[in-house]
Amino acid sequence: MAELMGWGRFPRVEGLELVSEDLEAISRGAILSRGLGRSYGDASLPPQGQGPVASTRLANRLLAFNGDTGVLRAEAGFCLADFNSLFLPLGWASPVTPGTRYVSLGGMVASDVHGKNHHVAGCFGEHVRALRMRVADGRILDVSENQEPELFHATLGGLGLTGHLLEVEFVLEKVPSAWVWAENQQVENFSELIACLREASDTWPMTVAWVDSLSKGDALGRGIVMKGRWARPDQAPSQAPASKSAFSVPLDFPEWVLSKTSVQLFNRAYFCKEGKSGKSGIVHPYAFFYPLDRLQDWNRIYGRRGFIQYQCVIPKQDADEIGKQLLKTLAASDEGSFLSVVKDCGRQGKGMISFPMPGISLAFDVPMRGDSTRALVRKLNEIVLEAGGRIYLAKDALTSAETYRAMDPRWEAWNGVRRQWDPDGKLRSALSVRLFGD
Ligand SMILES: Cc1cc2nc3c(=O)[nH]c(=O)nc-3n(C[C@H](O)[C@H](O)[C@H](O)COP(=O)(O)OP(=O)(O)OC[C@H]3O[C@@H](n4cnc5c(N)ncnc54)[C@H](O)[C@@H]3O)c2cc1C
Repeated sequence: MAELMGWGRFPRVEGLELVSEDLEAISRGAILSRGLGRSYGDASLPPQGQGPVASTRLANRLLAFNGDTGVLRAEAGFCLADFNSLFLPLGWASPVTPGTRYVSLGGMVASDVHGKNHHVAGCFGEHVRALRMRVADGRILDVSENQEPELFHATLGGLGLTGHLLEVEFVLEKVPSAWVWAENQQVENFSELIACLREASDTWPMTVAWVDSLSKGDALGRGIVMKGRWARPDQAPSQAPASKSAFSVPLDFPEWVLSKTSVQLFNRAYFCKEGKSGKSGIVHPYAFFYPLDRLQDWNRIYGRRGFIQYQCVIPKQDADEIGKQLLKTLAASDEGSFLSVVKDCGRQGKGMISFPMPGISLAFDVPMRGDSTRALVRKLNEIVLEAGGRIYLAKDALTSAETYRAMDPRWEAWNGVRRQWDPDGKLRSALSVRLFGD
């Protein structure tokens, strides 16, 4: 048994993890698969004391690539960081990338991840052509839009609860260069931020905004909107972007480091750094897509108790008003959030319980302080539920089954498909026990 945790380092469970290059072997009899543990809460964890869990991190072989069609097939443990090093210099990018490159293909499928281009490209699952997976009765199946389509759709964003992904086939995006042309714009309040994101979504394929979560009054929701597109060859440096070296956090920080004052100081400095006039120009793709990867193990800053990331999506028409309510609730609590991010979401994913819907997504990192953090999440959830929004399960650790089910009635149809393939409930996780009553 080992102590297992997700990126938020909360919760922690004891569980048995099997690690091997031979994914077919370790997935036989395992109750769950996990990749690089970059989901925040309990999605990649077994229920307390249970196992075995199959770790895919050594099953990372590239299996096939067609340079004419851009179709790539790899083992589920293939890491996006390796993908980028190999393929960006050749002019190919992942069609969707989350905010860290230390994720596995299996994890990207099982969370049906979204990126800064969601309003244009949708979720990762839209670009997946086929999956090879082991289902609960031990069979290995090839599934796609044409073969077992229901299982395919339940598996995109299905958090590993429909089977163990062994191989993933998806279509890459051909890019004009490996560099990004980016433009940053300072905005004075949340209404301006939403308006700016909306306007940018017509002309920019990639957008995201950072919010000063402790700003109040007229400045509530002030922040920086970042826009980007792949640079044209005549704009980009001729050499391929070098891999950036990262610093790492050597120890768990003590709790007092993250006070409301330190968060306030950080947010103020970050907001002012941009300057009113904004900046534009060529940026390294890693600086644009993965700014947090510069600091390895940055989750240790939150100390041993860890943190949660609260991420929700709220429908477009009420985004301004509901977003302000969420920010006010966060600011009124004792918690501060270093990292508060707003994204524009486009169409709903193909996955039966994929997170995004047309609207605005907000995400806040909050230190885990026990009851006060639980109370904050309850309040945020009440607002989101009332607004017709929902939360991202790959980030969640604290939502109750009752609240989640009310937010996302799609879970019942998805769970029905899951039960057809796993009538005895062999596949399970700490999250599935918490939310689906396994
Ligand atoms: C800094 C940071 C930024 C992020 N930004 C984004 C973002 O912009 N957009 C976004 O959508 N997400 C984002 N995430 C979340 C992250 O991208 C997803 O949770 C991703 O799925 C994690 O991949 P992983 O390999 O670490 O999977 P894990 O965390 O190990 O597992 C995630 C889920 O996938 C399942 N799983 C993993 N491998 C398999 C497999 N082989 N077969 C079946 N199930 C499997 C697990 O059971 C679990 O339910 C971010 C995370 C971090 C830490």
